[in-house]
Amino acid sequence: MRNLITGGAGFLGSHLVDKLMESGEEVICLDNYYTGKKNNIFKWIDNENFELIRHDVTNNINLEVDKIWHLACPASPVHYQNNPIKTAKTSFLGTINMLGLAKRTGATLLLASTSEVYGDPEVHPQSEEYRGSVNPIGIRSCYDEGKRIAETLCFDYQRMHDVDIKVMRIFNTYGPRMLPNDGRVVSNFICQAIKGEELTIYGDGLQTRSFCYVDDLISGMMKLMYSKEAGPINIGNPNEFTIKELADLVIKKIDSNLNIIYKPLPQDDPLQRRPVIDLARKKLNWNPSVEINEGLDRTIKYFKECLDLEVIK
Ligand code: NAD
Ligand code: UDP
Repeated sequence: MRNLITGGAGFLGSHLVDKLMESGEEVICLDNYYTGKKNNIFKWIDNENFELIRHDVTNNINLEVDKIWHLACPASPVHYQNNPIKTAKTSFLGTINMLGLAKRTGATLLLASTSEVYGDPEVHPQSEEYRGSVNPIGIRSCYDEGKRIAETLCFDYQRMHDVDIKVMRIFNTYGPRMLPNDGRVVSNFICQAIKGEELTIYGDGLQTRSFCYVDDLISGMMKLMYSKEAGPINIGNPNEFTIKELADLVIKKIDSNLNIIYKPLPQDDPLQRRPVIDLARKKLNWNPSVEINEGLDRTIKYFKECLDLEVIK
């Protein structure tokens, strides 16, 4: 099996590279290094089953592949809002290009979609039938609407060209190899706490998220790829926390003397988010197993090592 992983040098992509390489598959890792790091996949560089290509998915590419894991797209609000037009192009053109490749080669394509397709949801928790409440013109729209059109393209390629697609709606995922500066809440809180800084809560901290550990997420992604399901299918951990609860937990684990400061809530920040994962449980026999305590300990250990290596300044 020849696997193409777009965004393979990123947080989730590099964990997927590890799993596929460890099981002896061939992997082509494609990335433009916008938020990905060569370091994440460096250990495979001399392996004959591994190939690394610097490429931007907004441009066409011709390869012979059997499976396309289409992850290329910045995921952190800070990064995807940095150049929103580029984010929209990556989602739209990048997905068209990968679907075109899937059509030509007969490869299966898995799209890393997101819970952001539900926007700031009026329905809680969110199941796959919910159609979402997305602001089409706000600062998150480049990402949210980008992923929505990417899903649309997948189903149109399935209907028109019989492309074998898998649409996975990923809920907030955390773990080692998140970028220390990527602005997402778990990496922000842990890095702030390790450096002895105040933890920054946006808004009143009563907004909720449900955090999935990266190993669970990757196992769900692989189960979906090897299943007969097209999705869309939610993959995430349904244990829901307020952001204040998360801050308190990180403080308890790292240094109970640390303080919290409150900053303005960014525009369109979703108030609550929790996946219904009945479909994944039933169709994929998947269930997350790493709880927040264990997952945070592993992530804190990783960021402390980064600090020792002076990756975090
Ligand atoms: P990430 O930013 O670490 O990884 C994205 C990767 O894509 C990076 O290596 C980046 O350099 C690459 N990339 C970006 N634009 C590109 C382009 N135009 N051409 C080629 N490569 C490009 O983010 P992540 O957390 O690993 O997310 C991976 C995928 O999963 C994304 O599609 C994201 O939308 C989706 N997702 C992630 C989460 C999460 O919580 N981590 C949640 C929902 C969805
Ligand atoms: N957040 C926060 N402090 C931070 C970073 C994020 O309070 O330093 C909040 C953010 O406003 C949001 C939640 O944490 O309500 C999750 O943010 P993240 O960027 O991780 O993911 P997303 O909003 O895309 O789910």
